[in-house]
Amino acid sequence: MSADDCIFCKIAGGEIPAVRIYEDQVVVAFLDTGPVSDGHTLVIPRQHFKKFHDCPADLLAQIGSRLGKIAKAVSAAVSSDGYNVLCNNGRAAGQIVEHMHFHIIPRMAGDGVFDRWPSYSYEKGKAEQLAAKIRENL
Ligand code: 5GP
Ligand code: ZN
Repeated sequence: MSADDCIFCKIAGGEIPAVRIYEDQVVVAFLDTGPVSDGHTLVIPRQHFKKFHDCPADLLAQIGSRLGKIAKAVSAAVSSDGYNVLCNNGRAAGQIVEHMHFHIIPRMAGDGVFDRWPSYSYEKGKAEQLAAKIRENL
């Protein structure tokens, strides 16, 4: 998906309607049309980047500095008990729209969303091996 046929670029540019809740020169925030909970919001940079690591660090910082303020307002508006800030990267991780975006998902105690979190324990030595491999790639 290039920026030319990107639905989120079109929302940022006003070519496609969205229920917008905040915008400035860096980001646009709007309600997700397929919400997981009331108030489910998407925050996108105006600039098109596919994944989190494609986005320059200074822009990530600018987006990050806005996420808290928007999440606080979303959570207050629906009186949620908590919220998730989520960024899916790649199809395997659930990314459908290939314009980097952050979900702000209001959560209520006991709502059951994301209940299945299939955690497990590493065998002895595996965590250290993985850590070394990750450091090689930094
Ligand atoms: P992803 O799975 O890529 O992380 O999330 C994409 C999100 O964008 C989905 O939650 C989906 O409901 C939402 N979405 C897809 N198309 C549109 C649209 O045209 N307008 C809005 N407001 N949300 C959209
Ligand atoms: Zn885009």
